[in-house]
Amino acid sequence: MILLDGKIASQSVKDELLLQVKKLKEEHKRVPHLAAILVGNNGASETYVASKVKNCSEIGFRSSLIRFDSDVNEDELLTAIIKLNNDEAIDGILVQLPLPKHISEQKVIETISPTKDVDGFHPINAGKLVQGFPVFVPATPYGVMLMLEHFNIDTQGKNAVVIGRSNIVGRPMSVLLSGNHKYGNCTVTICHSHTKNLEEICSQADILVSAIGNPGMIKANMVKQGAVIIDVGITRVDDATAVKGFRIKGDVDFNDVATKASALTPVPGGVGLMTIAGLLKNTMKAYLNK
Ligand code: NDP
Repeated sequence: MILLDGKIASQSVKDELLLQVKKLKEEHKRVPHLAAILVGNNGASETYVASKVKNCSEIGFRSSLIRFDSDVNEDELLTAIIKLNNDEAIDGILVQLPLPKHISEQKVIETISPTKDVDGFHPINAGKLVQGFPVFVPATPYGVMLMLEHFNIDTQGKNAVVIGRSNIVGRPMSVLLSGNHKYGNCTVTICHSHTKNLEEICSQADILVSAIGNPGMIKANMVKQGAVIIDVGITRVDDATAVKGFRIKGDVDFNDVATKASALTPVPGGVGLMTIAGLLKNTMKAYLNK
């Protein structure tokens, strides 16, 4: 079985970006600049944003972290986004989700300029993706595609099953895998909580992408012999023996599924790292598009 190691695949993307930044610096040009907005102090969101900022600095991008208290009002947040939209020095903007309940995520997403929407969540970018003219592909499914490319996984004509239909993972993932390109051309089935016979459908998948958020739900009996398994799920599971009091678990029961899979992503160390690689690539794209 091949371990689809996100450390290796994301490092190769970062090395490529590092070279691009080096060239920009040699030409005395400014470097890409990502602005990240964080509302409140949700532990997981803090970790994700810190990691995005750290990765920017590792490859020589500039980044700005703009923080708001969890009781910030919606208008104040939208005004901050508009200011970033109008700031020539900012290439990419991301607002870490989820947001407190009193703020409309959809309004926030639609306020980010589509040209700076490096998370690829704006309806204009989502529509372009469906039509096959992607500007910014949502970072997680983009990261999965970069992973498939790095390990040269053959997807042509394969049966792919995507579990999950969210706008940020499952749905764009299904669009990408069914697209007419080198790491696409799959016949895709998309599953969700109303799907009947999930086990049977999954066990016919040559490529199975799980984006549910239910730790350990995917077992070997749901997996075809030799399938490629991509585990997008990330759930914090309480564990008193862990230093932080919790462990990160994927949707896939790794040891069980490893007995049948031909390739498998670990959690942590898989798709999470590729998501950041996708975000960094989008930020470079936003910069170059200017
Ligand atoms: P959502 O909660 O928005 O979507 C989950 C999807 O799973 C829904 O479509 C839901 O169906 C489906 N689902 C839930 N239970 C079942 C079930 N028993 N059988 C079949 N389908 C089911 O989550 P996200 O898409 O935002 O995220 C999914 C997972 O990926 C989470 O664990 C999240 O933490 C992780 N994630 C990881 C990232 C990374 O970088 N690795 C980035 C983003 C997310 P329905 O639509 O019917 O409710």
